[in-house]
Amino acid sequence: MTTPLDIIKPAVRALRAYTLSPHRASVKINQNENPWDAPAQIKEEVLRCFAARKWSRYPDFVPVSLHERLAGFAGWKADGIIAGNGSNELIQALLMVSMGPGKRVMISEPTFALYRQVATVLGGEVVTVLLTPELTYDVAALLKTIEETNPDVTIICSPNNPTGCVIHATDLRKLLGASRGLVVIDEAYHEFSQQSVVPLLNEHENLIVLRTFSKAMAFAALRVGYLLAAPELVTEIRKAVLPYNLNAFSQIAAEVAIERYEALLGPTVSAIIAERERLYREISQIRGLAPVLSKGNFMVVKTDMDPRQIFEGLLQRDILVRDVSGYPMLREYFRFSVGTPEENDRLLRALNEIAG
Ligand SMILES: *Cc1c(COP(=O)(O)O)cnc(C)c1O
Repeated sequence: MTTPLDIIKPAVRALRAYTLSPHRASVKINQNENPWDAPAQIKEEVLRCFAARKWSRYPDFVPVSLHERLAGFAGWKADGIIAGNGSNELIQALLMVSMGPGKRVMISEPTFALYRQVATVLGGEVVTVLLTPELTYDVAALLKTIEETNPDVTIICSPNNPTGCVIHATDLRKLLGASRGLVVIDEAYHEFSQQSVVPLLNEHENLIVLRTFSKAMAFAALRVGYLLAAPELVTEIRKAVLPYNLNAFSQIAAEVAIERYEALLGPTVSAIIAERERLYREISQIRGLAPVLSKGNFMVVKTDMDPRQIFEGLLQRDILVRDVSGYPMLREYFRFSVGTPEENDRLLRALNEIAG
């Protein structure tokens, strides 16, 4: 007996779908979003510009003015940039032009689940290197695996979702030097680490950097991301991007956000960093909980209880965190994102009640 499902690639059938629990809560700290909404000044300016634009006309074929602003903002050349409908679209485009049967991607685990999912859907093989027991990048193991398996693409998330570890420039240089393939650094959270590998783009033509407006820039709803790489590589990756991938509204919004970043968004990033450090100190004091140092706007915490019990206890108190206990190495952990100071106070009170 054959069924329509027999047509689906076996590797895809074997994948666990990337899902998100449908719970709702008034303290929503499960998706690493900016806890403060985009500032009203930004919203008003975007709405004004958008109302004045003809809705009957396509967006720019190549959003040149956005690319130019991104170039100034990120410190890279405009012809080495692609803006996308979220950076997830660009991960997909990049893997579409590089992955297939016989091709190999190397990732660390635990990390962002999408890399494995997209590479697998495209028929590529995924080679995994575990983080160290301290949940940091195991650079020696990564180098050894590059040597042994010669991956076509290596993806490093820095700061890493969900653990918050970063790859240091000296270690990245070693990986870039050892690699005959592409090395992708997903910098979705770079603002919170106050470091970036973009300066290395000048020295390494196999380096690709991904960034997003969904986290520090407070634009998760608008779906804007961008990719930075050598112009020759960008020309090839563009071939996998659909025309008009970025809608006109998001293009306008991204330009306004760049203009206003310093004055209006930067201060929220500083506040989130300060709150992250406070949460680390205070959670360290709670019996049975051990937070892991993070350079992102989120943190994993080891618990001697069942992490599901923490998740449920928080949900009963109207706080939604992320259950990451199904990830490799994280059976005893939960993840939260840094909220506003008031939300963080509520989280601390709740954790003290549940675990303390
Ligand atoms: C949130 C996140 C992104 C952002 O994806 P968008 O499509 O830009 O919203 C990218 N990478 C990682 C690791 C993330 O956690």
